[in-house]
Amino acid sequence: MTAEEPEAPKLGRASSPKSKPPPPAGPARRVAVALPLPFPEPFDYRVPDGLDLAPGDYVEVPLGPRRVFGVVWGAPAQPAEPAENAVPDAKLKPVARRFDLPPMPEASRRFIEWVAGYTMSQLGNVLRMAVSVSAALEEPRAMTGYCRADADLPDGFKLTAARKAVLALMADGPPRTAADIANEAGCSPAVVRAMADAGVLLPVPIRPLGRFQAPDGTLAGPTLSDFQREAADHLAARVTEGGYSCTLLDGVTGSGKTEVYFEAVAAALRAGKQALVLLPEIALSAQWLDRFQARFGARPAEWHSDLTGMIRRTTWRAIASGEARVVVGARSALFLPYPDLGLIVVDEEHEPAFKQEDGVIYHARDMAVARAHLGKIPTVLVSATPALETLVNAEVGRYTRMDLPGRHGGATMPDVTLIDLRKPDAAPPRHQWLSPILRKAMTETLEAGEQGMLFLNRRGYAPLTLCRACGHRLQCPNCTAWLVEHRLTKRLQCHHCGFTAKTPESCENCGAEESFVACGPGVERVAEEAAMLWPEARVAMMTSDTLLGPRAIQDVIDKVKAQEIDLLIGTQVMAKGHHFPMLTLVGVVDADLGLSGGDLRASERTFQLLHQVAGRAGRESRPGRVYLQTHMPEHPVMQALASHDREAFLDHEKQSRLETGMPPFGRLAALIVSGEDDRLVDQVALRLGRTAPRDRQELLVLGPAPAPLSILRGRHRRRLLIQGPKGLALQPIVAEWLDKVEIPPQVRVQVDIDPYSFM
Ligand code: ADP
Ligand code: ZN
Repeated sequence: MTAEEPEAPKLGRASSPKSKPPPPAGPARRVAVALPLPFPEPFDYRVPDGLDLAPGDYVEVPLGPRRVFGVVWGAPAQPAEPAENAVPDAKLKPVARRFDLPPMPEASRRFIEWVAGYTMSQLGNVLRMAVSVSAALEEPRAMTGYCRADADLPDGFKLTAARKAVLALMADGPPRTAADIANEAGCSPAVVRAMADAGVLLPVPIRPLGRFQAPDGTLAGPTLSDFQREAADHLAARVTEGGYSCTLLDGVTGSGKTEVYFEAVAAALRAGKQALVLLPEIALSAQWLDRFQARFGARPAEWHSDLTGMIRRTTWRAIASGEARVVVGARSALFLPYPDLGLIVVDEEHEPAFKQEDGVIYHARDMAVARAHLGKIPTVLVSATPALETLVNAEVGRYTRMDLPGRHGGATMPDVTLIDLRKPDAAPPRHQWLSPILRKAMTETLEAGEQGMLFLNRRGYAPLTLCRACGHRLQCPNCTAWLVEHRLTKRLQCHHCGFTAKTPESCENCGAEESFVACGPGVERVAEEAAMLWPEARVAMMTSDTLLGPRAIQDVIDKVKAQEIDLLIGTQVMAKGHHFPMLTLVGVVDADLGLSGGDLRASERTFQLLHQVAGRAGRESRPGRVYLQTHMPEHPVMQALASHDREAFLDHEKQSRLETGMPPFGRLAALIVSGEDDRLVDQVALRLGRTAPRDRQELLVLGPAPAPLSILRGRHRRRLLIQGPKGLALQPIVAEWLDKVEIPPQVRVQVDIDPYSFM
């Protein structure tokens, strides 16, 4: 921020930046404009003669020396008497222009306000999530695209691998921009330009709009089972009658939940409404997109962080104009300005990926319900392992619950066996990780021509590397975390900040050469063991390191389906809803892994993840087998998985949360104090500790304490936690608390309402 820019105001509405516009004749028409910048409230601007503005209009306004865009926030401009602390007319700066776009709907604006209030964020920071591509506000210019020239390749034109990829891509399909070609073909834009220069690609003007075909809500879906029909009819009725509702669609993986909520999407389309489907990891959902296209005859609009600039712009405009009828997206899609949203589906609603942990900290599932409330529309939460929060909301009748029992087509649930690693005959050989029991089962599976999967939710080769000579451990220079060895890339990586370095040849502490030993397994190490045990097997790795982008993922999936792969080894990217008919054995290398962190939801998450992984086995006529390697077979999570007794686990989990007043039976907010100077950070944390509202009996304040990740990206971190009863809103209490403590600019205090991470 420059000095000329206004300070974030504490009270009332702030002035627009100082300047001397010609004094208008009568009282100025003023308008409140929210800016996508870290300000808590809109600013007043003058509406110049000849400009008519309505709430929701996108406008350009001056801010200090800059011009920025904003959204007309308040009521229509009125010459009403300004509030006491408002800027005098003469000091108001005029709105520069209005963008030619449909206004941001009322429901979107109220939602942005609501989220800002709930998450204790600045209004402008939430607004920025709704208008994350400012370039989208401009009418798209015609752009240059390229298509394949008809002529033969010119003499001397060298066919490199990259050029071949471009030619293959351009063999059919529409003309695309150089950036899009480069992106899709996996080459650099320079390759495309060189091919254009050589006359192999021809420039053609393209208009970026018009790429969104309307999915057809009148096409027939599959014949539904009675249970599916009942749930689908319920959802379709909610969509047709409109108004807020929230339905939990609960059923094991493969029970046909997707087909059911597709019926709700169809109903929304028939009613002329837009529908939004939130998926936890949209980049991994190629199969979902194919299914959608098969069902509705057109692809939905996608919204996630991997979109290229031009597609982002086009998509935003198509959504804002209502051209895009169905949007499938990651959590940020919730904030887009849908003009006629008629349905929100949150698939895999229990997924931790719905929680955004930086910037505006929010949980997309909870915000989806709030958005549905404000927009008076139905919402559907879908899961095989709903979050405890959601289940309790269903129990108390706040949500309607629809259950889909069993798997579609009567496929049976896999047999789950616990391997007790403490038993000598079950323990793997030294420095190996697969139990003889699991090895035997895998050998049988592979010999029968079926497929197997080994799951370990840990990337890299080993979680810790130490020097055999002196015991020195390789640690991240920026974080309180070990560096993880990745042998495939021959590098060390910090999984918290992304720091990477070459694996050193000698110990930086004692100078010993080739003295490093790997401790514990990561997926790469499991793959090494598998290669030794089953040298004939064709193995594929599925981790976020090995699969870069949806194409690579789809490629592996296709190979598995075509049975060109015998054994899959991977992390949780593999747990997602891919459907492999010949996959009959799943081995979980370390079922206890998620329990070690010990946070509030460790058991719940472990259950959800392992249930999902187990669900990969035996989805069709072939029965599946699942082996869980564990050191605590008596743990309620392991027992529940082995006996398919979800209710027993949930009862146990509910009871322990109830006894401790933890969510969903109590409320939490975390304060994370961070900064580069640990003394300053400690000072602020201690002051927050001293001024904490400890006198109120219904509140419990814990901390300050060093965060488990006490240094992250070079910043020292302290945490405080406040716990209150269910009915009490913690936001005003936290706001009052923060007001009492002066926070120097070098220190940051983040508020995390309903925290999911305690690191
Ligand atoms: P879930 O979303 O609960 O995991 P899906 O909707 O993906 O379940 O269904 C599992 C499989 O069964 C999919 O291949 C799906 O196409 C198929 N399926 C589900 N319901 C039906 C139906 N009524 N008729 C035919 N196939 C169905
Ligand atoms: Zn780090």
